[in-house]
Amino acid sequence: MAVSEFELIKRYFYQSARAFGVNMGIGDDCALLSVPDNKVLAVSMDTLVGGIHFPRNADPELIAERALRVNLSDLAAMGAEPLWFTLGLTMPKVDEQWLEGFSKGLLSVADEYNIALVGGDTTRGPLAITIQVHGAVEQDYAFMRGNARLGDVVFVTGQLGNAAAALSVIRQELNVGKSAFSYFMSHYYRPEPRLKDAKLLRGLTHCAIDISDGLLADLGHICEESGVGAKIDIERVPVSAALNKVAEAEQIADWALGGGDDYQLCFTVPQENLAKVEQLIENGKLRATAVGEIVKGSGVACLLEGEPYEPKRRGYSHFDPT
Ligand code: ADP
Ligand code: MG
Repeated sequence: MAVSEFELIKRYFYQSARAFGVNMGIGDDCALLSVPDNKVLAVSMDTLVGGIHFPRNADPELIAERALRVNLSDLAAMGAEPLWFTLGLTMPKVDEQWLEGFSKGLLSVADEYNIALVGGDTTRGPLAITIQVHGAVEQDYAFMRGNARLGDVVFVTGQLGNAAAALSVIRQELNVGKSAFSYFMSHYYRPEPRLKDAKLLRGLTHCAIDISDGLLADLGHICEESGVGAKIDIERVPVSAALNKVAEAEQIADWALGGGDDYQLCFTVPQENLAKVEQLIENGKLRATAVGEIVKGSGVACLLEGEPYEPKRRGYSHFDPT
């Protein structure tokens, strides 16, 4: 990378605030970081490619927000607290206006969730953004996909389907009014990593996943890893009032069950912790809804008013988008 480009990195990506455990951040060959005592490092990476994961001409501030938010969501899904991240940025050319917007979005999310940018790499090529996040969690409290047990209740946070509706709007398959437009767009570009919910659930769940590919697909991963099946009552799956206004029931069920990009958490709660979780929900601390249970067998079965229901699609797959 040319010196002038390093100057750009300095200009746009240095954060002034000092973060936890950063002995050396951006500027040397490596970052030097201290992991908190008695915790393990939780590491995850996501790549967003222009034209595939977001429209190439999308607002750079929003692209950056989304890129960091979806990575933070993985930390939430593991029960880990954010510490540091690195950024791999591939751009067709150096466009200072674009970089300014991008760094503004990136660093505002970093500040909001208390995570420090400690390094990265910058290259030329088709627009792509890779972020690696690092967090910390006590090993015994990590939320792992293999920890669901028979009789656990399956919950989801927030509401599902808003991001899938946004995608239909972006693809011009769905027309909505102005306020619904901004509502759906903000759910797509600015998903809220459920870090606070994850913190509340410490010790109450040992099994969670973030819903990036759709509830059925992601709960399917829990079932596979845990060697169990799951049963979902479709009428209990929470959707927004905005979603209810723009489509028919079957379309809404398809978005909520099979649409990705919501980044809510799906987690399972053993019977002995159920009362505590329900209390957190009643107190308004945790926004979550019970949607089904873990059962014998394999795969996710859907019920609509008690009758078997076969959804239109089971989730988004990058290499087999059917
Ligand atoms: P190297 O040749 O050692 O890979 P670089 O010139 O690529 O070094 O980067 C110099 C410094 O700038 C390193 O500390 C690196 O982590 C940081 N850096 C480079 N690109 C980015 C980026 N996109 N975001 C954050 N830090 C970056
Ligand atoms: Mg480099």
